[in-house]
Amino acid sequence: MPFLEIKQLTKVYNARTVVSAVDLTMEKGEILSLLGPSGCGKTTILRMLAGLIVPDSGYIRVDDRVFYDNGHQLPTEERQLGMVFQDFALWPHMTVAQNIGFGLRLRRQSNQIIASRVEELLTLVNLPGFGGRFPHQLSGGQQQRVAVARALSTTPRLLLLDEPFSSLDTGLRATMREELVQLFKHLKITAINVTHDQDEAMVMSDRIMVLREGVVQQIGTPTDLYLDPENTFVASFIGQANFFGCKHLDSAPGDVASTANVNLTWPAAEPTLPPESKRFTGLVSPNVLTHLNGQVSLMCRPDDVRIHAVPPAAEVPNVLAGTIAYTSFVAGQWRTMVRVPGQTPEILTYPKFSPKIDQAVWLELPPEACRVLPG
Ligand code: ADP
Ligand code: MG
Repeated sequence: MPFLEIKQLTKVYNARTVVSAVDLTMEKGEILSLLGPSGCGKTTILRMLAGLIVPDSGYIRVDDRVFYDNGHQLPTEERQLGMVFQDFALWPHMTVAQNIGFGLRLRRQSNQIIASRVEELLTLVNLPGFGGRFPHQLSGGQQQRVAVARALSTTPRLLLLDEPFSSLDTGLRATMREELVQLFKHLKITAINVTHDQDEAMVMSDRIMVLREGVVQQIGTPTDLYLDPENTFVASFIGQANFFGCKHLDSAPGDVASTANVNLTWPAAEPTLPPESKRFTGLVSPNVLTHLNGQVSLMCRPDDVRIHAVPPAAEVPNVLAGTIAYTSFVAGQWRTMVRVPGQTPEILTYPKFSPKIDQAVWLELPPEACRVLPG
């Protein structure tokens, strides 16, 4: 039996379904992110888990407790959760130690037990000796660590985080998320993290649930989502992707997707690649192509696009001629946008040579790196 189970969870506001029949299972100790653009229903799902919003229908169980079943709602205080929010929500009039010890005090633990637990938690979040300070005497990152310590004080069965880093600056955000993942893994915490930031989701999560307008698009590991996105929405939300809209698809084996001016091919036959190569699973079969009725895009990741300064040999498949439109040097590599006639937007690539604006180039999309996706 999975540690956490959500079935057909649904929430409707004013006749608008904002969370639509969400299914999810999680194992103990797993960290999962809910990822999607603003308004897609992430917070609503988290708050239904917390018992702060009552679902319209569905089922939620965590460990041996049923949180919600068809109208039957377990009160928040009986769910044994830890929660961390964007604004930290520390009590300003309480010291760090009083903030962290608050939940234990409610449970009528002795002062001695509380004091030692608070000190232990402060050490865990790298703030030993900070117990006597007030929140306003701490930096944003330190306040967020206190909020995490407070959420962990009562050893929750599930930790819920809603955009916990969004009020921190970029550098601090990057350090904090790595620090917290290590802490959660060390303590074997089961956590659900809400974010609209794909990098954060990739760094922090064992698995990611991608949401769009309340509907789950895909659930998978960061690598699965990157290599095997199920549609163009997931492909463009996780990492960078180039899309080639296909005008016409030939459903015969050999598979031709005709873009503006070039026929693109991708492997149609049973892949002869090692099973660990995830990239080739879920290839669209000719039948599916017919079924999709042309509503598809061919996708190739920028790091898979090969860019040549001289034309490749005639037998090389999937070559598009273009010119360099724009180029920048970021994080040790050239990021180059290539203009291809009939193709918008421009194609993102990472050339090994130093590119010049307006230079003629040839893009090669290796068939094995191309995916056909609905959307
Ligand atoms: P996210 O956290 O992904 O940004 P939310 O879960 O907060 O999104 O909201 C999902 C959708 O539900 C949004 O369109 C939002 O406007 C709507 N919504 C949230 N709460 C309410 C409410 N109390 N009444 C009506 N609509 C709401
Ligand atoms: Mg939200």
